[in-house]
Amino acid sequence: MEGRLADGPLADELRGICGDEHVLTHHHQLRTYESDGLLQYAALPGVVVLPGDAREVAQVVAACHRAGVPFVARGAGSGLSGGAMPVEDGVLIVVSRMRRILEVDLANQRVVCEPGVTNIAISEAVGPSHFYPPDPSSQIVCSIGGNVAENSGGAHCFKYGFTTNYVTGLEVVLPDGETVQLGGKGLDGPGLDVLGAFVGSEGTLGIATAITVRVIPSPETTRCLVAFFDSTTEAGEVVSEVVREGIVAGAMEMMDNLSIQAAEGATNAGYPQDAGAALVIELDGSQAECEARFDQVVSLCEQGGAWKVRVAQDEAERALIWKTRKAAFAAMGRIAPNYYVQDSVIPRTRMAPVLERIEALAREYDLKVANVFHAGDGNLHPLVCYDESKEGEAQRAEELAGMIVKVCVDEGGSITGEHGVGVDKKRYMPQMFEEPDLAAFQRLRCAFDPDGRANPGKVMPTPRLCGEVPGPYRRHPLEAAGLAERM
Ligand SMILES: Cc1cc2nc3c(=O)[nH]c(=O)nc-3n(C[C@H](O)[C@H](O)[C@H](O)COP(=O)(O)OP(=O)(O)OC[C@H]3O[C@@H](n4cnc5c(N)ncnc54)[C@H](O)[C@@H]3O)c2cc1C
Repeated sequence: MEGRLADGPLADELRGICGDEHVLTHHHQLRTYESDGLLQYAALPGVVVLPGDAREVAQVVAACHRAGVPFVARGAGSGLSGGAMPVEDGVLIVVSRMRRILEVDLANQRVVCEPGVTNIAISEAVGPSHFYPPDPSSQIVCSIGGNVAENSGGAHCFKYGFTTNYVTGLEVVLPDGETVQLGGKGLDGPGLDVLGAFVGSEGTLGIATAITVRVIPSPETTRCLVAFFDSTTEAGEVVSEVVREGIVAGAMEMMDNLSIQAAEGATNAGYPQDAGAALVIELDGSQAECEARFDQVVSLCEQGGAWKVRVAQDEAERALIWKTRKAAFAAMGRIAPNYYVQDSVIPRTRMAPVLERIEALAREYDLKVANVFHAGDGNLHPLVCYDESKEGEAQRAEELAGMIVKVCVDEGGSITGEHGVGVDKKRYMPQMFEEPDLAAFQRLRCAFDPDGRANPGKVMPTPRLCGEVPGPYRRHPLEAAGLAERM
């Protein structure tokens, strides 16, 4: 047994609710849960509890409320911003046992499921006639509850939209243990969009215990290619050309030379290791439209400087092309013992200058940065490589990652595209939001959680209580340039 909570009456109460075997208190068990996918941030929870259903979640949260103990929700723990990092001496509520699909209603194109269901399991439950479009690269492990909390995206969100565009209803346990229904099967209910506020709230407003999502018919056909260029600038121009031509690609994904080298080394999919950039473009829809548009995309790639365009001849080749793109993060281990995933957004047309700045910063900090992008959305994932065994390298990597965020915001972008703010990015919030914005976020949070017990210390730049005034702020560059204003 470890720590104050583990020995106390709350742990006993949690055992009574969920059963002894689902309440973890030993040091070696707690260590499993000390961080999410962003290993740079870690904390030991006081107790880990794994409820089996929504009723148990509500009872666990109510017990925390009565005891005045903070709690953090956790799905699969694949988050990359430290969002599911536990609070020391708090309770970590892990919903991974809650994996039931509760209802498949194809007549209304809805699926209702528990929060621990993996993203891919939803498409599997309704396939092959239908699918669930938001597709994080982590989709075989990440939970739909985590997707809701992070408003997750993926390769196909350029055409289809993000999690928030597919969640129509939620059952939520509020921080005092009360269960409420937000939305339902309908597309939009009357009143304030409380459902919209919950999606992307990173576990700070309560715990989603049942989720209703929209699924859509699978496209009649899919065509996929990967084109190779000398530079990311050329490939980026082609992305803009495709958009300018009014072609709504299912996905447009880019990798630079360093990420190609790492991923190809892992997958042997036939990506040339000397390519400056690889651009994966996928079209889907009706056969006739796809065929016509696909030829146009091939021409745009060739005119844009592609020296090789490989068209997937069958489903196996398409899967191989995607395997390399999806392996990019994991393959970084071939380049450096450690890496730091950055996630920021830029206006698509600013890709070339931003990449030049990132390259210059990498030289200045004497570190390697590999780049993987959801190019259609302007969502960059610079992977800052380092070796933590070398004195000062981890700190340099973190600083460099912070400089990259600044460059993106200065170009009119955002501090995060899809991985969330969590604990990692909260210090950058004042780069994007002014004091009144932060105060409004805080008031909303306090309306759900006046005692600040749901995932405290995340998202907001400084820990503050309800009613406290937030810290300093800067105007967003788009406002300073007179291109946007606050209403
Ligand atoms: C290799 C790799 C690739 C990735 N690719 C992508 C990508 O393409 N797109 C993308 O968007 N993300 C990506 N991610 C990040 C991550 O997978 C997503 O953020 C995912 O949504 C997290 O889900 P999870 O179940 O792992 O959540 P966790 O990491 O467990 O939690 C994430 C946040 O959600 C909260 N939370 C979890 N469950 C609930 C619940 N039921 N109710 C309320 N709050 C809850 C937690 O408190 C935490 O704040 C990637 C991660 C990895 C490791």
